[in-house]
Amino acid sequence: MSRFFLRTLRDDPADAEVPSHRLLVRGGYVRRVAPGIYSWLPLGLRVLARVEQIVREEMDAMGAQEVRFPALLPREPYEVTNRWTEYGANVFRLQDRRGNDMMLGPTHEEFFTLLVKDLYSSYKDLPLNLYQIQTKYRDEARPRAGILRGREFVMKDAYSFDIDDAGLEASYQAYREAYVRIFDRLGFEYVIVHADSGAMGGSASEEFLAVAETGEDTFVRSAGGYAANVEAVTTVVPDPLPYDDLPAAHAEQTPETPTIETLVNHLNVAFPRDDRAWEAADTLKNVLVVLRHPDGTREPLAIGIPGDRDVDVRRLEAHVSPAEVEVFTDDDFSAHPDLAKGYIGPGVLGEQKSTGIRYLVDPRVVTGTRWVTGADVDGSHVIDLVAGRDFTPDGTIEAAEVRAGDAAPDGSGPLELERGIEMGHIFQLGRMYAEKLGLQVLDENGKLVTVTMGSYGVGVSRAVAAVVENSHDEIGIVWPREIAPFDVHLVATGKDDAVFDAADALVAELEAAGIDVLYDDRRKVSPGVKFKDAELLGMPTIVVVGKGLADGVVEVRDRATGERSDVPVAEAVENVRAVCR
Ligand code: ATP
Ligand code: MG
Repeated sequence: MSRFFLRTLRDDPADAEVPSHRLLVRGGYVRRVAPGIYSWLPLGLRVLARVEQIVREEMDAMGAQEVRFPALLPREPYEVTNRWTEYGANVFRLQDRRGNDMMLGPTHEEFFTLLVKDLYSSYKDLPLNLYQIQTKYRDEARPRAGILRGREFVMKDAYSFDIDDAGLEASYQAYREAYVRIFDRLGFEYVIVHADSGAMGGSASEEFLAVAETGEDTFVRSAGGYAANVEAVTTVVPDPLPYDDLPAAHAEQTPETPTIETLVNHLNVAFPRDDRAWEAADTLKNVLVVLRHPDGTREPLAIGIPGDRDVDVRRLEAHVSPAEVEVFTDDDFSAHPDLAKGYIGPGVLGEQKSTGIRYLVDPRVVTGTRWVTGADVDGSHVIDLVAGRDFTPDGTIEAAEVRAGDAAPDGSGPLELERGIEMGHIFQLGRMYAEKLGLQVLDENGKLVTVTMGSYGVGVSRAVAAVVENSHDEIGIVWPREIAPFDVHLVATGKDDAVFDAADALVAELEAAGIDVLYDDRRKVSPGVKFKDAELLGMPTIVVVGKGLADGVVEVRDRATGERSDVPVAEAVENVRAVCR
């Protein structure tokens, strides 16, 4: 350490919100260059290399072959799949000196597809699995938490190529198993969750989430084994109800009730029910947003949801992607004079209605359900407005928040909500890319068939941070053995040459035994500072060579448990080797 390029910091970086960010910067693992853009210092680079190695070994073991594409990519293939437009502001675009448009690759489906098209033409060449470990660029709207959400980051992306659906299913399962091995080895708690709404079949897309309170993803699980990203949770749709006996809708004066709470209070005073009190869930709340489409156009959208729930913006975004969600501004209200702010109802909403604004409702709003909702006049609501009788929305949307206690869509019980960090994503792409880019091969009968594909990502640099989120304490990082930058942090304390001679010798022996040692050989640094550094940096085993030497022992500490034991110098290598295995 007297020559190692490392400076540990006493203070947390000002912009650090989560423990991994704080500790990786303070420990001299990474250093910020710009928002979401980080340099890897020697210690950090060693961890990154270890994560890469685990991923590489497991990809190779399942028969995938490593390639590497450039990050600097031409526009044309992205144009063919429409992603040049769809990516919108999320990618870095540039031009070469001739004015040609280029992109810094955010992901590489197009180029893998074209490479295989270039070289392969027969079913005999399939299945094929290719992967790369490579730097990706995304101009994230909210770079965050250091390397957890960067604008430049390292991803492993893999792609499978199969002749038919059964082949794709088998490839997908092979990746799933490889991912289980990768994430087991990385040593953090994770869950595998459904990542899409199941429109393409239940397992068409799954995410591997590291369980972490600081995670940006919310997922649900049921005791019966259902697990899904909250974006992918589908609402259990009730059966339609008969409405022949329901009273006709009637508009009522409900002055100064622009919120659900004021409305429910007013209803209970002015229009009490016989059977029970009015509840927020009896009301239909209409929320207006604007969709910004990739081509820049703005489309207003109205969303009707039961009044006891809020719109979950991430769920909404997931369902309108690639469009982005923006606020419905005062100018937008001015452009639609039929909208009575605070009293908006289905009377004016819908493509066929006076505003022309597309109107999508929560799936719970089935035919025969009965609502209190805005009467499109200031200070007035309609009571007994029945879906399917009095209004017909343009469709449904899964935009309402999911709450603990909601039913799992597969009937496996109530849902619990937890947070996680997306670490990996496996996805049955199907034939979309192959079709657009013309990847076809001849089948057994000499007929041209379109190849079916899967794509499989792992956040390699993000994993470094996710491990720290999962494995640290107040004083520092606690690396799991498999990805620790060094196996042992050996601290020599004292002033005597004898201590340093003994420590030098022990380091040499440990290294000869195949153990990686970070050796704190600094002479002018106090033992207290050295121990603090060792705790912050987080090597799994700390060996202290110092006072004990007089009694012929060194101290071996376990960073995770804090356990300490004195070990005779002569047995130190054997002892350390045993704990390092
Ligand atoms: P997210 O939902 O977190 O933005 P994504 O779904 O856009 O991720 P994918 O396109 O599925 O990400 O990329 C594969 C993997 O790459 C992700 O599972 C994640 O681990 C990692 N990854 C994605 N974006 C970033 C980023 N900005 N910084 C670090 N790692 C990332
Ligand atoms: Mg993903």
